[in-house]
Amino acid sequence: MLIANRGEIALRVLRACKELGIQTVVVHSTADADAMHVRLADESVCIGPPPSRDSYLNIHQIVAACEITGADAVHPGYGFLSENAKFADILAAHNITFIGPSGDHIRIMGDKIEAKRTAKRLGIPVVPGSDGAVTDQKEARRIAAEIGYPVIIKASAGGGGRGMKVALTEADLEIALQTASTEAGAAFGDDAVYIEKYLEKPRHIEVQVFGDGFGRGVHFGERDCSLQRRHQKVWEEAPSPALNAEERARIGGICAKAIADLGYSGAGTIEFLYENGEFYFIEMNTRLQVEHPVTEAITGIDLVHEQIRVASGGGLSVKQEDIKFNGHAIECRINAEDPRTFTPSPGTITHFHTPGGLGIRVDSGVYSGYKIPPYYDSLIGKLIVHGRNRVECMMRLRRALDEFVVDGIKTTLPLFRDLVGNADIANGDYDIHWLEKYLAKEE
Ligand code: ADP
Repeated sequence: MLIANRGEIALRVLRACKELGIQTVVVHSTADADAMHVRLADESVCIGPPPSRDSYLNIHQIVAACEITGADAVHPGYGFLSENAKFADILAAHNITFIGPSGDHIRIMGDKIEAKRTAKRLGIPVVPGSDGAVTDQKEARRIAAEIGYPVIIKASAGGGGRGMKVALTEADLEIALQTASTEAGAAFGDDAVYIEKYLEKPRHIEVQVFGDGFGRGVHFGERDCSLQRRHQKVWEEAPSPALNAEERARIGGICAKAIADLGYSGAGTIEFLYENGEFYFIEMNTRLQVEHPVTEAITGIDLVHEQIRVASGGGLSVKQEDIKFNGHAIECRINAEDPRTFTPSPGTITHFHTPGGLGIRVDSGVYSGYKIPPYYDSLIGKLIVHGRNRVECMMRLRRALDEFVVDGIKTTLPLFRDLVGNADIANGDYDIHWLEKYLAKEE
């Protein structure tokens, strides 16, 4: 298997391959020659200079690396080419297995308007809004009046929290529509935008799903990713402190059935906003998520193993009734960033010490003496803590954060040390705006 990624996720996939006895090839840019995944893989191929577009996004080089090494499967991780339908198609044309869904399913879900239409057709509850793209002001005014202000204008090709504009009243609508569309055109090469109701105090709750490749679908419960900054997740937990067992089974059942009806294959995440007991679909990610370890912690199931099984035609190792939820898990994303301003802080890690003990998992590719290159995402590791219940999980998390040492650069660790002591966080009482308000108050 060739792993077309870097950092902690490359290592994560490599570990699964080693367990399954699969020979590994990693690709890397010249900036990553010293990376841990390169050291641990059976083979490595340098595919280009530091910029992602010349290396990790260079499809020709990656296919060539498969051919040189004889790799017959590719795991894309998350980010980079993981949701690139063309990449999936090209691999298929070369008889190389893409560890993920078909190019067609990636394409449907990659276009947010098409994804929302598909979700609605499959019986998934969606956010009220326009049926498709909205181009003229008059239509926008009519739809916004119908669903009620505030509304949010979103780019059909959007991603990574970019390309969204909120209009609080009709007076803001014209300019919001125009700027969203112009920005979407510039950022994504597609200026199509749509309108939906802006939910004011929702939680972000997402359901982990899997299609087994034989027309069956299962769900692995939900993750609560409401603690966000600039629409980027910071802290994720499973199960959500806001849901009860009945709600979990209901939304999980709807998602599993949709995946089966779609004939989907592999791992996926169906993302919702949740407010006043209602779920509203926002998008589906057709890949493994950064935060998948919290689901692994409470189910005891290795999701990368399952991805590889499904891609090789072996189906899932579990049926829905075998998937049980046990205890509580929280993940903190450790970024090489200033904990207050979030400006990236690349440089050399002079000392790196990770916590251990029962219920602690650290997924990271860095080590003492590692020099963080300035070209990529600032995520340097994830701390995942599991306990029998949320209280035990929080106690363990506080202790683990105290033990964690990263010297030489700034990281987001101090932010998490503050959060574990906060009463709202302890009570699980937060929505998607909580963290930004908290950070504004601290300034
Ligand atoms: P992206 O693909 O860019 O991540 P999403 O559609 O998943 O975009 O939305 C990202 C985040 O934006 C959500 O987690 C939420 O915080 C906010 N958001 C999106 N749609 C709405 C909405 N209708 N109302 C309120 N907030 C929203």
